Amino acid sequence: MGKPNTKKDLFELISSEAAACRVCPDLCDRKAVLSNLNGSIDAKILFIGEAPGRQGADRTRVPFSGDQSGRNFDRFLASINLSRDDIFITSAVLCSPRSLSDANRTPKKSEIENCNPFLQRIIELIEPRVVVTLGSIALAALKRIEYHELSLKEAVGNVYRWNGRLLAPLYHPSPQVLASHRREEQQLNDYKIVRNALALMDKKITLYWLPHCSTCQKADTYLKQTGKSVTEYRDIKANPLSRTEVERLSKLVGGANELFSRRARLYRSMGLADRELLDDEMLDLMATEYTFIKRPVLDLGNNAVSGFTGKSYDMVLGKE
Ligand code: SF4
Repeated sequence: MGKPNTKKDLFELISSEAAACRVCPDLCDRKAVLSNLNGSIDAKILFIGEAPGRQGADRTRVPFSGDQSGRNFDRFLASINLSRDDIFITSAVLCSPRSLSDANRTPKKSEIENCNPFLQRIIELIEPRVVVTLGSIALAALKRIEYHELSLKEAVGNVYRWNGRLLAPLYHPSPQVLASHRREEQQLNDYKIVRNALALMDKKITLYWLPHCSTCQKADTYLKQTGKSVTEYRDIKANPLSRTEVERLSKLVGGANELFSRRARLYRSMGLADRELLDDEMLDLMATEYTFIKRPVLDLGNNAVSGFTGKSYDMVLGKE
């Protein structure tokens, strides 16, 4: 093959190098599972498994197919309205590791290390916006590409920022894992986070805040930790909200009362605590004095929340 010019050429080059690879002594008689059958190289979402299974991908050449793990995976994928055409699937180790009795075995550390450059090249080529790891081996393999401290048990069900992308760690769909570690119902629930990550990927998120306010900083840290990218930070002191903007946000958060802060010093000094305020009065106050706005305000365009708690953010971001 000449010099690869296109993404397709480059993929073919990686696939042919993997097919010819004999680096792992115990896997020399196996052929790497990497071809067009792995999915779309333009997919926005990349799934990473452990290694091809004896009855599954090593036989069918299609990752997660032909065995019970594959059937479980297809069911989980369908539960979030994704098809194989939407994704690319690969694994931490491209060749099928076998025991002396020819049964599936866990890949050795050296095999994961040897195959890591292929995984890195696949990620760089596909450039997915969302990476989903299936099982702890796949999650750990990513550490060698860009270090993270995630453990599957604690990280499952959340989305993280990793290597400039969103990372959703999930359990492996094998029957053994379903029976002993993560049951069907839990896995179906975990997969919802993938759908949410995809929905959030292109969504505009505005945070109306004060950069030095500690609650606003906590909200920002929480968003970053859970992999949500704020598209715009708006300092409400430097760039105050208009009456129209205040009115719009108050509708999104559930009414003027939800957006109005009674903690403002002016609230007491103006004697407002002594009487019932009308919605219009609250809107006028918020539009003229930013300290009357309960901050921060997270604005998703069709939904918003004022103030910050992890639970309220999870709800508005669709996690629960
Ligand atoms: S598992 Fe990866 S590194 Fe090892 S022989 Fe197969 S392709 Fe090469």
